[in-house]
Amino acid sequence: MSKQSLERENRELKRSMRILASKAERNEAIVKSFFEMEIRLLSCTSLSELLDLILIEFREYFRLDAVNLILFDPEQAARSLLEDYVPPSPANSLRFVENQRMLQSIYPDRKLTVGEPDDQVKKAAFPASHYILSCALLPLERHNCLIGSLHLGSRDPSRYSSEMLYDYIKHLASVISICIENCINYENMKRMSIIDMLTKVNNRRSFEIEIQREISRASRSEYPLSCLFLDLDYFKLVNDKYGHITGDRVLRTVGGFLKQQQRKSDVVARYGGEEFAILLPNCNEQQAVQLAENLRSKFNALIFRSDQGEPFRMTTSIGVSTCHPATYKRDTFEKLSYSLISAADKAVYHSKAAGRDQVNYVATAGSEPPQKPQLEVV
Ligand code: GH3
Ligand code: MG
Ligand code: MG
Repeated sequence: MSKQSLERENRELKRSMRILASKAERNEAIVKSFFEMEIRLLSCTSLSELLDLILIEFREYFRLDAVNLILFDPEQAARSLLEDYVPPSPANSLRFVENQRMLQSIYPDRKLTVGEPDDQVKKAAFPASHYILSCALLPLERHNCLIGSLHLGSRDPSRYSSEMLYDYIKHLASVISICIENCINYENMKRMSIIDMLTKVNNRRSFEIEIQREISRASRSEYPLSCLFLDLDYFKLVNDKYGHITGDRVLRTVGGFLKQQQRKSDVVARYGGEEFAILLPNCNEQQAVQLAENLRSKFNALIFRSDQGEPFRMTTSIGVSTCHPATYKRDTFEKLSYSLISAADKAVYHSKAAGRDQVNYVATAGSEPPQKPQLEVV
């Protein structure tokens, strides 16, 4: 072989080595970026945090022009966790479906799809992003069921034509599927431990935690904290006359009504069978009594219905108590919460004894003005 051809071969070899080395470097960077994102996905503890990461941060992180997600949510489990969540624009970047039709039309064979989307797929996967020229459509699966579909889109027609990325994307799809399932399960479990399943307001256990938290907050900010106890009047008669299913429906309606009446900072809980409690931060006794009166009269206007559609009204007896800033330093938060609850409970008892359908106030122990010292008479 001549010296010239050897040199040429050598040059070509070096050139291929350089190309290979730069490919390896690129691959390493891709692996690293996928790995970093995987850790961030796995560390999300709420569905809204996970969705923000996917729908907002993926765009910048992976340099994409559109990221859309469809979630299969037949029982509204995901949506119920996202009541306060505002999805990023465009508004349909996050969609929920209650049957598998759309998902099956995107993935007839349940496989990751990459390349240039045809018009039909573009319409389904990127309804507001007609400029997408190449895309990766990731089926999200758990337990052999399609739970969603993630669409990564780019204006660059060559973005998703390379085979190199597929394994990483497939892996990413599995991680995202697990994270979605985990976040929904975790949040639902957390919710179930603090929410009363019948009425969807806080349960007694979480009320007892909240009351201590609120007393501590009120003590720091030196504002009064009031508590209302509501006990439905003659509720047993509803069960006896219309049956327990109607009774349950009454309790559900009352829970919804109280939640609707509350301010964002108030805590509403089902304290027992047909007893509800409301914590009113930064609310003094006059305001609390006024609020309780309004609640009572609005409650009286509610119309309930039996299973047969028969309308009926109910009344409620309310007890009010208040913790004043002066008392916070005198007692432990535990004792203060006990006296706030027992005063409200006593006040309900007075309302019942005085004929029901009324509001009464009882001062918490230690909240009366200090007694003047008396001279002992010998
Ligand atoms: P009062 O005016 O004295 O409060 O009378 P009341 O009938 O409301 O009170 P009482 O304590 O005698 O009865 C409460 C009833 O609430 C008895 C119980 O069966 C019913 N109850 C408790 N929890 C539930 C529930 O989850 N669902 C239904 N349907 N009924 C319940
Ligand atoms: Mg009762
Ligand atoms: Mg009752």
